[in-house]
Amino acid sequence: MQNIKNTPEWKQYEWLITKIFYDDYSELQTSIVPNTKLHGEKSKISRQIDILIEKNNIKTIIECKHHKRPLDVKAIESFISMFDDIKGNYGIIITSGGFTKSAYNRIEEYPIKLEHLKWEDAYINSFNEQSYGRINDICNHCNSNFKIGKEIPGLLLWDSGYGLEKDGKVYIYHIAECLKCNNKTLYCDSCGITTIVGKDEPCCQEAIIFINNFNT
Ligand SMILES: [Zn+2]
Ligand SMILES: [Zn+2]
Repeated sequence: MQNIKNTPEWKQYEWLITKIFYDDYSELQTSIVPNTKLHGEKSKISRQIDILIEKNNIKTIIECKHHKRPLDVKAIESFISMFDDIKGNYGIIITSGGFTKSAYNRIEEYPIKLEHLKWEDAYINSFNEQSYGRINDICNHCNSNFKIGKEIPGLLLWDSGYGLEKDGKVYIYHIAECLKCNNKTLYCDSCGITTIVGKDEPCCQEAIIFINNFNT
């Protein structure tokens, strides 16, 4: 099992921001894809993207930077050249350490926003155990003894509900992927139980059918 202490702070910061954007913006027409790649039209290589938001072919590129010092013009220019390469429509650079004046000057002509979000504030905004009704935002599979306020457990990205029709009854399921261990958590509305897909015993016969349908 992966130890949380091995996860660098910048990666944890990225998870927090991903969770915030996922919970705030994901819907049927909008996809939020963490840690992905896009083809660079000029460089002809694939470029790493922290978070990609896509809606009607409009691409918003989010870069997360956990830094103690303010980001300067150099970091901004490196983002601009990547943004230009992948033909992004909008960009957001989020950092825990703020920005220099030159950083703000440099983005003036671009559809790019700079956001200063401290690690602690990202932590408070990104999850709390009750935020999804009865469904937890923390993965039970990789939930080790994390220190509240300091370390980050596996955060779950919940998809909206799916219905399964069987014998004239509708069963509702919610499914979430963990940012840390990538295992999927299933919440069954009928049983009121969360299970880890492929690890725990499924809660009911319908859940087995749902999972089989979901994977194919
Ligand atoms: Zn997990
Ligand atoms: Zn069930």
